[in-house]
Amino acid sequence: MTRKAAVIGKPISHSLSPSIFGFLANRLGVTDLEYTAKEIAPEELAQFVERFGRELDGVGFNVTIPHKESIIPLLNDTAIEAQAIGAVNVVHRTQKGLKGYNTDVYGILRTFEKHGVSLAGKNAIIVGAGGAARAVAYALGMKNAAQVILLTPNQERAHALISAIQPHFKNTRFESCKDWSDLKPEKKSEAWSLIAQSTPLGMSSQPKTREGIPASDYFSQLQGLKFNSEAWAFDLIYRPEWTPFLEESKKQGLLPIGGLNMLIEQALETWRVWFGIKPAAELGDYLRYRPIFLTGFMGAGKSTIGPLLARELGWAFVETDQEIVREAGLSIPEIFRLKGEAYFRDIENSVIQKHAFQPRTVISLGGGSLIHPKTRDLLVKTGRLVLLSADPETLYHRLKSTSDDRPLLAQLSEEERRRKIESLLKEREPVYNLAAFRVDTTSKTPEQAAQEIREKLL
Ligand code: NAP
Repeated sequence: MTRKAAVIGKPISHSLSPSIFGFLANRLGVTDLEYTAKEIAPEELAQFVERFGRELDGVGFNVTIPHKESIIPLLNDTAIEAQAIGAVNVVHRTQKGLKGYNTDVYGILRTFEKHGVSLAGKNAIIVGAGGAARAVAYALGMKNAAQVILLTPNQERAHALISAIQPHFKNTRFESCKDWSDLKPEKKSEAWSLIAQSTPLGMSSQPKTREGIPASDYFSQLQGLKFNSEAWAFDLIYRPEWTPFLEESKKQGLLPIGGLNMLIEQALETWRVWFGIKPAAELGDYLRYRPIFLTGFMGAGKSTIGPLLARELGWAFVETDQEIVREAGLSIPEIFRLKGEAYFRDIENSVIQKHAFQPRTVISLGGGSLIHPKTRDLLVKTGRLVLLSADPETLYHRLKSTSDDRPLLAQLSEEERRRKIESLLKEREPVYNLAAFRVDTTSKTPEQAAQEIREKLL
């Protein structure tokens, strides 16, 4: 029997959870776990929870925006830290019903441990007062920080956070302020040991504050603050990995910590909640460095952008078509002519299987590799699948000189080739849509496309 797990939210297509949990399941040899992303609207939540509670093969699910708070009254039980924080990001189905957890706190504590952050009796700042800020505040309370100040223009939200968290920690004093100037030595004589950034400011979708101030200008106000000689700057954002906040913090001599480790640790803890076993720590490294697969139509740029991206990352590069030629001892047109496409797709599948869990590798796939259902499932589960696209006319021109070497376009007139490209693109669109995201290379240099992939990936 398959066991079922999911991530629920709306929107959900951006979620990294299916690829993270698919990758974990594969590495750990858990072959019966089916992990899916489900778009659930607020009005569908109660029904989903009730149904999942009854499903005997349901293991649990991850919860993301906008359900992290509203799910609590629908569950049978909630762990203490999730109650205090007022947000659940993991649900486990047990004999006694559905229990909610917040594994973000754990992710933050593990991140502090990894970086040797010691906070007992020290002072810290949290920028923002949303759900993630609540988890940071709870973790700082657990670490016995002396004082935690929330910096946010939204004082109402800050006060609600303090009312929820303060009663759990007698050694830590939580306060709030509206402006950077309230944190300067003239107003607060303390030196800070940590500043945690828990707003989305600095993600590519949020380059500016609501007042239109660019993230780097906003965070340059760190300059006026007094930090201890060893002090940390922790940005919860994990995409991109290097943020304007970290850049400004580094200029001030703070020790930078990005959000990726927290994301990975909360996922490993989710696994423990569901299966009772904590995956080995090195799995975190596999997640961080799991391979990047480039897919897309022939001519979309896989063979040019792939090696470039690998070089920039310092990773290995594999081109599956070249490996197939080596393995079969025949050229690709010969394989198609003498053995047929099905034979080609089978060898392609075995080559991809071989590299699917190879960390620090960029893998350029053949244009039609996703057609094979086994390959498709494997790629969606295991890797970071990136689609390179271009408009049909651009593809036609890029492929003009090499069409005769390409079995699917050889021996066609110009007009037939154009039509063939368009029909193949249309046919493959549903499988191309399985990619985590697409990069349109039509009017980009290979360097620009590689840069865009790096920015969008973890
Ligand atoms: P949230 O509940 O919506 O809270 C966002 C906070 O940021 C609020 O204080 C909000 O202020 C403020 N804010 C929103 N847009 C802003 C802007 N343009 N400039 C300045 N402040 C802004 O979100 P969340 O769940 O706390 O998530 C916050 C960030 O943490 C996200 O980037 C998320 O990706 C990251 N995160 C990372 C991890 C991880 O594992 N690394 C886990 C969870 C979250 P208002 O109160 O005025 O709206």
